[in-house]
Amino acid sequence: MRILLIEDEKALSNFIKQGLEAAGHVCVQMFNGAQGLLKALQEDYDVILLDLMLPQMSGMDILKQLREYPSKTPVVVISALDHSDQVVKALDEGAMDYLRKPFAMEELLARLRALQRRIDHDQASHLQVGDLTLDYQRYCAYRGNKTIALTRKEFALLELLMRNADRVLTKTFIAEKVWEVDFDMSSNIVEAYIYQLRKKIDKGFDYPMIETLVGIGYRLRSSTDP
Ligand code: CA
Repeated sequence: MRILLIEDEKALSNFIKQGLEAAGHVCVQMFNGAQGLLKALQEDYDVILLDLMLPQMSGMDILKQLREYPSKTPVVVISALDHSDQVVKALDEGAMDYLRKPFAMEELLARLRALQRRIDHDQASHLQVGDLTLDYQRYCAYRGNKTIALTRKEFALLELLMRNADRVLTKTFIAEKVWEVDFDMSSNIVEAYIYQLRKKIDKGFDYPMIETLVGIGYRLRSSTDP
């Protein structure tokens, strides 16, 4: 897994990084809250390990920000705050798990394996954004009661939009991920496929999910909220 570790105690952070890397994970360290949040929003991680007592921005505030953004990266809290109030609060704010310090490296690794199994299970069968579902087994989509047949590239494009729901994706980014070609080659292809996809998933529904940001790219909206 690619892991973002936001922990201000250097020695502990290095110890965790070492343990994670020994188990085959990639670990990026951030040592204060504000920079950690920025990193979490700018780059893709499979999981964020988050301390609560951090300089500049608390872990609780980071959880709130991630939820509002919204970020789908699972967060595991690692904290010396062991009051059940804190645990409940962190879980309510969106943390997937809470590990009390001090903990054994083996326990952290086991929690990550459990998290990975949950992620794999969720991803294996379907992907859900708002009332739109992508079905990996039947290789189609559903919106409301409508079953939507998709070509291979339409499926890949919709999957990319759904995995990044509510984020603006540039045409360049989409072209690279779905067609593995650069922008000059593919600007029209992306537009053409978005047009096709719109007809399939938005036509006849109350609110259009695929939004065009002129001159920038596209965004799949998970709700009607602006
Ligand atoms: Ca701390």
